[in-house]
Amino acid sequence: MTKPRPPNALEKMGLNSPIALALHLPSRYEDETALYTIEDALIKGSFSAVQTQGRVIRSQVLFRPRRQLVITIEDDTALLQLRFLNFYPSQQKQMAVGAHVRVRGEVRDGYSGPEMVHPTVKAVAPDAPLPASLTPVYPASEGVTQTVIRKAVQQALRSADIKQFLAELIPAPVTADLLPQGEWMPLHDAIHYLHNPPADADTAALMERTHPAWRRVQFEELLAQQLSLKQAHALRRQRNAPRLHGDPPTQGQQSIEQGLLAALPFELTGAQKRVWAQIESDLSRAFPMNRLLQGDVGSGKTIVAALAAARAIDHGYQAAVMAPTEILAEQHFIKMQEWFGPLGVEIVWLSGSLKAKEKKAAHAAIESGAAQLIIGTHALIQESVSFAKLGLAVIDEQHRFGVRQRLEISQRIGSELFYCHQLMMSATPIPRTLAMTYYADLDVAVVDELPPGRKPITTKVVKHSRRDEVINGLQDWLSKGLQAYWVCPLIEESDALQLQTAVESYAQLEQHLPQFKIGLVHGRLKAEEKAAVMAAFKANQIQLLVATTVIEVGVDVPNAALMVIEHAERFGYAQIHQLRGRVGRGTADSVCILMYAEPLSAAAKERLQTLREVSDGFVIAERDLSLRGPGELLGAKQSGDTMLRFVDLQRDAWLIDLAQQAAERLLANHPAVVDQQLERWLGSRADFLKA
Ligand code: ADP
Ligand code: MG
Repeated sequence: MTKPRPPNALEKMGLNSPIALALHLPSRYEDETALYTIEDALIKGSFSAVQTQGRVIRSQVLFRPRRQLVITIEDDTALLQLRFLNFYPSQQKQMAVGAHVRVRGEVRDGYSGPEMVHPTVKAVAPDAPLPASLTPVYPASEGVTQTVIRKAVQQALRSADIKQFLAELIPAPVTADLLPQGEWMPLHDAIHYLHNPPADADTAALMERTHPAWRRVQFEELLAQQLSLKQAHALRRQRNAPRLHGDPPTQGQQSIEQGLLAALPFELTGAQKRVWAQIESDLSRAFPMNRLLQGDVGSGKTIVAALAAARAIDHGYQAAVMAPTEILAEQHFIKMQEWFGPLGVEIVWLSGSLKAKEKKAAHAAIESGAAQLIIGTHALIQESVSFAKLGLAVIDEQHRFGVRQRLEISQRIGSELFYCHQLMMSATPIPRTLAMTYYADLDVAVVDELPPGRKPITTKVVKHSRRDEVINGLQDWLSKGLQAYWVCPLIEESDALQLQTAVESYAQLEQHLPQFKIGLVHGRLKAEEKAAVMAAFKANQIQLLVATTVIEVGVDVPNAALMVIEHAERFGYAQIHQLRGRVGRGTADSVCILMYAEPLSAAAKERLQTLREVSDGFVIAERDLSLRGPGELLGAKQSGDTMLRFVDLQRDAWLIDLAQQAAERLLANHPAVVDQQLERWLGSRADFLKA
């Protein structure tokens, strides 16, 4: 048997078929269709790259201070220097005195007159013809030159497969009134145009990806995504889930739900009542709920989830509540015990850190159905856990789970025959563009009102050099009987370093504030240790809690209304917003102090300013999206799979509406095209879209 040939460099980049190559679209273009005299190039070239040519009249290797190659070329009009900070002997040979070269680059003022640094160089005859089209520059990886990619792409475009692959699938009436007449290019033409744009093409539009050829490709991609999401939507409606309607199951007896409501120390806000009504209606249907409950930090999502859990338990089903971190899951466990314990509900805790014996007991209770309400981390979805009768899964801070984990969750809790209802919760609002593309099969409800009596949080931005002042202020604060958080800097590269900094800050604060009890929590503590510290903080036995970002989500101590964040410049928008949401939960005026160290990057400065001025989580999420792109927001980074290759949700937002309309028309009038379209664009990626 012959061994399979090892993949070549192109194949390693995933460019293993004519189709993959045809869809490997340029990242930018170079204009080599124009040639300037050196004199003209000196003027034009200070704005953008230009092409010129001349004869080499001098070649020098200089040491100033690094070894570099300096070439001087001339034509009839002027002289130009070329500077290479790294160079090979082959380049010296190519640009030997007397050689004729064509060069392309930007012109800048150097030590000794105008020069190009690292221009692209070709040794050609003075009358060598110019290309007729703009030169595409492709995303490449090490060991693959542009020449190799260009050749492979051009060859792929000529293959028979491609003609068929790019055949127009969308019937004209579907899009006729969507895009302006001249804006619509057949897919085949668009792809060819992008690989071979003519010399007179609108280069700016090509570069910015707003050209009709790009639009067409973007439209295709969005359309495929909309179709896939709509299919998932239709599929969900064909599945079976328990109908959990609102009538009390046993006449005359108080239901868990009623008991829960009656014992609540507060009245639900208008927003909570509204979203609960929406969820109630979902739960009463015979197909699985797939709802995202959004609400800013502190808006009171937990009680809504508890009501849904009560509904499931009242109907004899189990409810599971899952959170992305142990600390957050524990918070839920404590809260749920407080609410459901007195009502006689059997609550079970399950996390990865349980001892084997405890885990076994938990598994047994879940399997036998004795456990009615199960709370934990993603240990809940492990293979070894089998639910007797799961009716509802609540997933808190769902965006903190990766795409893969979310996929696992939906696969675990659904089977061919029976699906449970899913309620996801998130304090990071999903901007509309994202909701429409990635979450079209998700019903969204928003808790857009905070419980009464909340005071807005005042955010202050303070230089690190004023740390002592901050500590003095902290002392005054604690003296009033209030509590506070001290959040230690995020050190992404090193868990150990982050821990060390936290321990140092803790020691320092203990020294400065000896009259107060100070606690420390970080990721390396055992679950019981963490729980003990948190419980002490909650009971006000600890006044100041020094913490790493482990407290980012969900922690709820109303008497702690001051938060100091050290090195706030290292945190992202969402992180600070989440952290800050830990305060402002009681009736005291709340303060968040963002301490930063200089130098501050422009981006960090803008971030801190925005955070000082804006408290609306939606606004912050939009800024976050424009800064980081959807991948990180969705957790798609972990999946290593970007789902939209050609679309930028900011730039192309307006196309989403059009794609959605086209998708609806296709589904209604051309169902056969739908499958072809999906196959063409998504293939194996479709699963990710449903997660
Ligand atoms: P989040 O939406 O961030 O998860 P929580 O559910 O933790 O918020 O609620 C934050 C705090 O507000 C909790 O202490 C909770 O008990 C309280 N709370 C929730 N709803 C109300 C309400 N309607 N009135 C007063 N307090 C409420
Ligand atoms: Mg919460």
